[in-house]
Amino acid sequence: MSRPKILVTNDDGIYASGIKALWEAMSEIGDVTVVAPNREQSAVGHAITVSDPLRVEEVIRANGFHGYAVNGTPADCVKIAIQALLEDKPDLVVSGINHGSNTGNNIIYSGTVSAATEGTMLDIPSIAVSLNSFEDSDFTGAQSVAKAVVLKVFENGLSKKTLLNVNVPSIPENEIKGYKITQQGNAVFKDRFEKREDPRGNTYYWMTGKMIDPDLEIDNDQKAVSDGFVSITPIHYRLTNHDFLDELNSWDFS
Ligand code: MN
Repeated sequence: MSRPKILVTNDDGIYASGIKALWEAMSEIGDVTVVAPNREQSAVGHAITVSDPLRVEEVIRANGFHGYAVNGTPADCVKIAIQALLEDKPDLVVSGINHGSNTGNNIIYSGTVSAATEGTMLDIPSIAVSLNSFEDSDFTGAQSVAKAVVLKVFENGLSKKTLLNVNVPSIPENEIKGYKITQQGNAVFKDRFEKREDPRGNTYYWMTGKMIDPDLEIDNDQKAVSDGFVSITPIHYRLTNHDFLDELNSWDFS
């Protein structure tokens, strides 16, 4: 393949450190276009904008970073990039590098994964990359992982309707223990709503919480990254529970 065309997006917004790191890494492999939300859109899931116009603005950051900021969600960005902004369909969509892991049940809320899902729905091989830390600003290891995974996808192709959800441990690159192909686990945020009072005496709530993994003994996505491995999970978005079809068919609806 000649130089591949790569669409880069995220959910932390076009000004995040992670997307700049991803742009840098992908630029070594192909011709990159960045189309990303103009502000943080973490945990918006697969939402799209239908009742408001989408506006696109060029953004230039240090060291040659160039992209398009959209006042929409990650899924909007992938849609508008492919269907309106880009001259040619990209060969690959890469979303990230997200600040914080996207594992277990949290995948359903993830804007990072949803952007990759949108790419998959538009029939383009897609990858989501997340770093297992909300604070860490060292994306070096995740950059190397992103490059390695992308090259493998170009080499092997991806199964239709399937994206790769990649989570990278937040440790120095030379301490990463290797790669594990994993299943989605059940990690989830145990929510807590902090009750506060605004300056006018009105009550408001702010959701906070911490991630818990009920299956710490089972090899899954979150356990792999917690143990120092890169986790790669093949994800698909089709939701039918095939195991239940027979039983449901046996119900008498007449
Ligand atoms: Mn995010």
